[in-house]
Amino acid sequence: MISVFLKKDRDFSARRFHPWIFSRAVDRVEGEPAPGETVLVRSSKGEPLGLGAWSGSSQIPVRFWTFDPEAEIGPAFFEQRIATALGGRAALAASGVTDAYRIVNAESDGLPGVIIDRYADWIVVQFSTNGAERWKKEIVEAIARLCPSKGVYERSDSDGRQYEQLEKRNGFVLGAPPPDRVEIHENGLTFLVDVRNGHKTGFYLDQRDNRVAIAPYAAGGEMLNVFAYTGGFGVAGQKAGAARVTHVDLSAPALALAAENTRANALDESAATFVEGNAFEVLRKFRDSRRAFDMVVLDPPKFADSKAHLMGACRGYKDVNLLALKMIRPGGYLATFSCSGLIDPDLFHKVVAEAAADARREVQVVRRLHQAPDHPEGLSFPEGLYLKGLLCRVF
Ligand code: SAH
Repeated sequence: MISVFLKKDRDFSARRFHPWIFSRAVDRVEGEPAPGETVLVRSSKGEPLGLGAWSGSSQIPVRFWTFDPEAEIGPAFFEQRIATALGGRAALAASGVTDAYRIVNAESDGLPGVIIDRYADWIVVQFSTNGAERWKKEIVEAIARLCPSKGVYERSDSDGRQYEQLEKRNGFVLGAPPPDRVEIHENGLTFLVDVRNGHKTGFYLDQRDNRVAIAPYAAGGEMLNVFAYTGGFGVAGQKAGAARVTHVDLSAPALALAAENTRANALDESAATFVEGNAFEVLRKFRDSRRAFDMVVLDPPKFADSKAHLMGACRGYKDVNLLALKMIRPGGYLATFSCSGLIDPDLFHKVVAEAAADARREVQVVRRLHQAPDHPEGLSFPEGLYLKGLLCRVF
């Protein structure tokens, strides 16, 4: 097996079980590993630290499969990893709370580059690294054995694939192709999911618990659901008794599905409005026409995908939170999120606090929110905590 030697004193993170080796930490590679090939990572003194997948074109040329240098990376390894991850979701699956959940959350489940989601009878997979791509067949075979389904659909079309020099792929791999709309049920709500064209693998499963957490506060009032996608928060709010919901999103197909989701839950469609447009412009228009709401939800896309974009991202978050805070009636609520892994909870908190100061609103944090527990974060992988939110009362 090909060995990758780290520079002197660059073995710290691997010894702490962090799953990434950055190119700047690599001293030399003894041989020419193919993309996705398993390599043995060694300290500068040659001590074996673990086995990982090689990806020479990436800034992260090795992602660890295991920190046991004696392990064998093969079909049985992947089957075991998926079985372990399934065990971690067994309680959620048995609870009846949802029939859609994440089975494998990449690095945080010891499978870098591999996402496996269940949507009722369908499994959707995403392979985003050379290592994941190398073992795709074995992983799909393990899924077929361990996760009963009508079919497995592949959504390997994330932007991350370009850094790995991998082509995007979107298509079905096993069993029957999924229908245009897969119906899922969570917490008494029905959602229709487009697993072929929707964002990520089709739905924001990571917001499941947050839909439950904020919905009761929407009861009786007017809700503004910004960055609505297929309506998740607004549908939950309306079901909990919101009198009116306005959904805002750039994407017409997403809003069309939000309307379908409103109908699927037998909610009053005449109390729901769907506004297609850029949230920043729509919010400015609402501000200028003095619109007011009892709850505003802000769940923007990832504004920062590299450190170079961090300042700009913070400005974006501040701007949109400032606009929202100004239109919340006294005593109303703001539910605000960031899914940028680079913005940690403290920084996000600061940005929202600055927006509140500029908006001249006093704000109370009612709850701190995170991604749902089927999206665990590896303790040694802080990058795994990407979604954070604040449910605030605004005075
Ligand atoms: N809240 C949603 C998920 C939001 S994902 C849920 O719980 O399901 C982010 C959404 O923001 C996407 O639907 C995307 O289409 C939309 N979006 C991205 N940029 C936007 C912009 N500038 N204005 C309005 N919507 C935008």
